[in-house]
Amino acid sequence: MKLHLLISSWGLLLISAACSSVPAATRSAIPPLIATITPISCEAELSELQAQGGRSAGDEVQTEATLRYLEDRMAALGYETYREDAGMYGAVAQANLIAEIRGETEPEVVCEIGAHYDTVVWSPGADDNGSGVTGVLQVASALRGHRPERTIRFCFFAAEEVGLRGSSAHVARILEREEERVDGLLDLEMIGFYSEEPDSQGAPIRIPLIASLPYTGDFILVAGNFSSGDLGNIYEGCIDRYVPGLKYYSANRIAGFFGDAARSDHSPYWEADLRGIMITDTAEFRNQNYHEATDTIETVNFVFLSRVAQAAAATMVEWAGRVPDDD
Ligand SMILES: [Zn+2]
Repeated sequence: MKLHLLISSWGLLLISAACSSVPAATRSAIPPLIATITPISCEAELSELQAQGGRSAGDEVQTEATLRYLEDRMAALGYETYREDAGMYGAVAQANLIAEIRGETEPEVVCEIGAHYDTVVWSPGADDNGSGVTGVLQVASALRGHRPERTIRFCFFAAEEVGLRGSSAHVARILEREEERVDGLLDLEMIGFYSEEPDSQGAPIRIPLIASLPYTGDFILVAGNFSSGDLGNIYEGCIDRYVPGLKYYSANRIAGFFGDAARSDHSPYWEADLRGIMITDTAEFRNQNYHEATDTIETVNFVFLSRVAQAAAATMVEWAGRVPDDD
């Protein structure tokens, strides 16, 4: 079983490496584009988000205020948004906030990037998941004026903490629409906690050669199930090409075997046979503030967060393609 898994992953890795054909013009366009994402821009983004108050899905006032905040921020970046019904949580209507850059040559193919905006009720949620929301907003900011071949869709998911309600509603909507094909989701789920202390990284399980997380929490985890591996390869390749200062640990095909890796908004995608990759600092296996009142902005590492977001922006450009300048 182990050997088979390894051989299969290597075989697919080689195939996908051979097939990756990103035009040189696209590759050269990416570094200046992602350079707009900096530790300072990420800190400013998260500071403003945190300053607008709590984001508990069970609180109607907070949920509405958060949606309005995200609408205003995306409008300031030049995007039209719409709210997507995500049902009720108790007495509170839930909505995802969606924006797109429509593809110019294959608009029906959709490449999604998302993060949940809600928090557990007692936590300020700076890392969980203010960091992911910051990542999506910073990618949206960096891609202003970008002309993709395929459609890029930004998704701010509601009510993740109370049963993945927003992403589940979104996937149900995807399955209803026959005119488009969603190629997958890049899910930013806690991307701001970093430590160089020895033994700062825990793990649900460590299996030598298959899945053995390092013991220092100074890397980003790329987690996917078997069919999402090629999407994970794009993210990891983008780190190698554009953000070499970022360490990563690849679980981009095998994470589907571990229950802990299915605890975010990519999980409904997996259940619907859609691709999904979770980009994460591994939550409570590293961050002791997880779901606590201490999950505050002071604990977030903005050099780390900005690098993760830079790689995410580069991934969206490579994945969705780029219309040549003189087209
Ligand atoms: Zn979360």
